[in-house]
This record gives sequence, structure tokens and C-alpha cells, in this order.
Amino acid sequence: MTSLLSQPRSVKVSKSKPRPKPERRILFQSFPNGPRLGLVRISVGTEAADYWLSRLPSDFGGAAFRLEKFAPEGDEPASYDVLLADDQGHHSCECKGFLRWGRCKHVDGMSALCLSGRLSSAPPRVVDAVEEDGGLRLVAG
Ligand SMILES: [Zn+2]
Repeated sequence: MTSLLSQPRSVKVSKSKPRPKPERRILFQSFPNGPRLGLVRISVGTEAADYWLSRLPSDFGGAAFRLEKFAPEGDEPASYDVLLADDQGHHSCECKGFLRWGRCKHVDGMSALCLSGRLSSAPPRVVDAVEEDGGLRLVAG
């Protein structure tokens, strides 16, 4: 009697290599104008997005910011409120990425910017960033 279990079975072996994370950078240009602090460019790999950065009052301690994306004409303008909490487990962002993954380029980017001293407050470290080409390159965390 042959056991079904002894039959050779094709086993799918995942051969996908761990993909290198796309490089992420954030660039801040001070451009104070009313509540706006300046321009921020966040790039992930070859994709870059530009935002107006404003500081928001934070009721929870930490630092809060609004990133208003430059949308191509006809597109819905998008803006994301980012809260950098004093306790790094409680950072938040309104974007879909954050809702899904609990972290996103906005939080990581703003955290790196604050930490670099470009913005006045310095919440706890989330990501490491390397000074480069006038911007910050985020070292994947
Ligand atoms: Zn986000």
C-alpha cells in the first residue's frame, strides 16, 4: 500500500531575493510664509513628491505638522497631518500607508528632519538619516 504522503510533491520554493529597499530622502527648504515653514520633498526611489510644510498646534505634546502635497492640476489636493509624539510608538499620519503599516515616509521623513535640527523640536529617533546633497537620506529602519 502506497501512502499518498510518500509521493513526490512539487514544493514551491520562493526564490525571491529580499528586495533592496528603495532609497528614501527628504529635503527641506526653509521658505517661511505665514504658518508655512517651507517646502519639503520626499523621495522614495525615483519617485518624488513635493509638499508645503506647516506646523500645527499639537494638543498631545510632541510636534504636529501638515504636509500639503503639490497635486497636478485636476487632481484632488492631498494633505496629511503628521504627529510626532514624545513617545515614538504614538506617532501618526493620516495617509493610507500609515493606516496600513503603522509607519510611512511622512512620519519617517519629518522625524528625521526634526532630529537633524532643521526644525526646532526634536522628538525621539525613528530612523537614521545621513546628510547628503543638502538633504537627508533616510537609512531604512
Ligand atoms: Zn504618511
